[in-house]
Amino acid sequence: MPGPQPIITAWPYTIPLDNVPAELAQKLADKTIIRENGCHEWVGTRIATGYGKVSWEGRHYLTHRVAWVLANGPIPAGLDCMHRCDNPPCVNAAHLDVGTRQDNMQDMMAKGRGVVGERKNQAVLNNKKASEIKKLILGRKLTLAEIGRMFGVSGGAIRGIKIGRNWRHVPWTMEED
Ligand SMILES: [Zn+2]
Repeated sequence: MPGPQPIITAWPYTIPLDNVPAELAQKLADKTIIRENGCHEWVGTRIATGYGKVSWEGRHYLTHRVAWVLANGPIPAGLDCMHRCDNPPCVNAAHLDVGTRQDNMQDMMAKGRGVVGERKNQAVLNNKKASEIKKLILGRKLTLAEIGRMFGVSGGAIRGIKIGRNWRHVPWTMEED
């Protein structure tokens, strides 16, 4: 049987992988630790965005993408693999999802950890909006879903702000009367 034949489309990080050879799966497992919060964290090399990188037969793969393929099969062409847990080195397939690049960007922006952040116009939230959202949460007049709709993000994203998972650096201030 022929081995997997990865095709490089965008060096080096989004190489399609149809299946994960046992040797690569072992490399992933060898440098992964299980955190109390359920994340399986890759403790090997990371790239600037925090994603794990694993090399195999001279090519580099993002560890979370390898983990997804291992659990679910190939990532459909053109789709990103993203973290529901907001922890880039996590390789727990249960914490991963696939979606369009735009979904991924919106998800990251809503969580306040986009690699491009406020530097790009496509940011859904920014420091000012996050501050407004915090005032609305404190005001208790609107539900989280209603606040989310006002800002074009999900209620879950607003909840993330409320519980301090996202946009933690933006201070909580009461609305001035
Ligand atoms: Zn995780």
